[in-house]
Amino acid sequence: MTDETLHPGTPPKDCALCPRLAAYRTEQMARHSGWWNAPVPPLGDASAWLAIVGLAPGLKGANRTGKPFHGDEAGKMLFGMLAELGLATETPDGWDAPGLFITNAVACAPPGNLPETAEKHNCRSFLAEQLAALPALKVVVALGETAHQAAIKAVGGKLPKYRFGHGVAHKLPSGVVLMDSYHCSRLNTNTGLLTPDMFKAALEATLAYRA
Ligand code: SF4
Repeated sequence: MTDETLHPGTPPKDCALCPRLAAYRTEQMARHSGWWNAPVPPLGDASAWLAIVGLAPGLKGANRTGKPFHGDEAGKMLFGMLAELGLATETPDGWDAPGLFITNAVACAPPGNLPETAEKHNCRSFLAEQLAALPALKVVVALGETAHQAAIKAVGGKLPKYRFGHGVAHKLPSGVVLMDSYHCSRLNTNTGLLTPDMFKAALEATLAYRA
């Protein structure tokens, strides 16, 4: 996985389309000058068959490390499960997951992990460009309802036709399969909304569409 390559649709580091989030980045920069504190670029390359879309960078996770799902519990859960399925291996620098593309619906960390509606809308064109630049894409895994909606809108689908449901696979007009899963956030895993078995089943189901 080439994590330093600028994939199409990577937001500029000084993106100011969301004034609240840009101000939050500046605030975090003053507090933690060694953190990334910028839109988090996607991880992966143009040959990916599977894209995983999360909600937004965790403040102390991806916003700190600059890599999606790196540095927090949600990332440990995601990459740990991908490793169990033979889709990722740990390296000294993070995780290697060939064939995978990992991104977020909103590229900047929002206060309280809660992006506003306008912010989700603002970042959608970046996600659309990222997914459009994956010619071998077969499956998009949406982690949570915000990612589900963002992924559908990014590929030009109509929301009312596809209702979010954990473990539900939606065939989109483009032929890409959208697989829903509850987000692997610590909140969801601590409350039991998402168990390791549930998460593994949703991710494992994507393998059927790989060929
Ligand atoms: S969330 Fe997306 S659109 Fe908004 S400022 Fe960050 S990169 Fe720009």
